[in-house]
Amino acid sequence: MADIGMAAFSVFFVQSPSFLAHQRQLCARGGHGRSNCETLFGMGSIPSDNHIRDMLDFVEPASLDELFDEALAAVERAGALSPLTGLDGRLLIALDGTEYFCSNKLSCPHCSTRQRANGVIEHFHTMLAASIVAPGHNRALPLPPEFVRPQDGHDKQDCESRAARRWLLAHGERYKRFDPVYLGDDLYSRQPVCEAVLASGGHFLFVCKPDSHKTLYEYLTGVEIASLSKGVKRGKQRATHAWRWMNAIPIRDGDDALIVNWLELTISNAKGEITYRNSFVSDLPIDASNVEALANAGRARWKIENETFNVLKTKGYNLEHNFGHGKRNLSSTLATLNLGNCSRPFGHAGIGRGFAARVNRMASRARRERRRAVSTTERMSA
Ligand SMILES: [Zn+2]
Repeated sequence: MADIGMAAFSVFFVQSPSFLAHQRQLCARGGHGRSNCETLFGMGSIPSDNHIRDMLDFVEPASLDELFDEALAAVERAGALSPLTGLDGRLLIALDGTEYFCSNKLSCPHCSTRQRANGVIEHFHTMLAASIVAPGHNRALPLPPEFVRPQDGHDKQDCESRAARRWLLAHGERYKRFDPVYLGDDLYSRQPVCEAVLASGGHFLFVCKPDSHKTLYEYLTGVEIASLSKGVKRGKQRATHAWRWMNAIPIRDGDDALIVNWLELTISNAKGEITYRNSFVSDLPIDASNVEALANAGRARWKIENETFNVLKTKGYNLEHNFGHGKRNLSSTLATLNLGNCSRPFGHAGIGRGFAARVNRMASRARRERRRAVSTTERMSA
């Protein structure tokens, strides 16, 4: 059987914008009379893109989850994980959703749908990505993703918040040993997600906007709030960083409201104009000794948007363009493979082979199942 997994992964590996161009490049003879596909990826023959598409469509994206952990373990073994920690040796895990597919023509059973004002129905896919980030680092190490998609037994459309809670339930236990702090935008700083984080054994540090947390901000008015500020000089620019914080306030209205700790960072320039302001809630106690580190950690979240999602969006659309949307899992599997490729900058070259082996096993199982289904149909019609 042709090496489907490696053929698919090699597309991500070389980050080819076009599968056809990639195939030609692979077929080109290298220096020793061997094709690039033989020397680079150890492939004997190149399967057609149709064949790859059909096989990958059978692969459940969750079956690739372990490979993210293998990549993480390799980074840990290489001693490259500790520079990525923050807040007293904890891992910062940023959760964020991104829409990586949208069409009013193509769809699959895992598509979410919405109706536009002009009546057009759009089909789309959103991925919840989890990545290890660190202040001062411009790379994010991906962990297994979760997909926003219609769930069995639920009438309601799935959403990012529910996907985040599924992610925590599925993976939180495994990452508990890193004493993780989960980062997320204002969508996450609601009681159900915060409780899910605590139940998984982690901590949270989520953006908390005044508009969406009216009760919490009422507690901040008319009282004295602890604060700290310092002048920061970067090149010729002078700025003032000011922090404010308050511990033990309710995240929402009601007797069962979760009690959280709040902090805010305001940056103003030499003229006194505010250039940045953001606030966060956390379960971690805040004081003058850690407020700056907490604010820096909270701000590290933007990396997942800039690093991971740029790759997913630009490369992801290319991949959909080349492989199509599939009838089962193709769209999500391609997105997962693409995300898996983001761990390459950490020097873990083995992830490609791991993905390939996994995809090959899945593909052969799919072939067996399909054969069995065909023979049952034949028996029944005989
Ligand atoms: Zn779909």
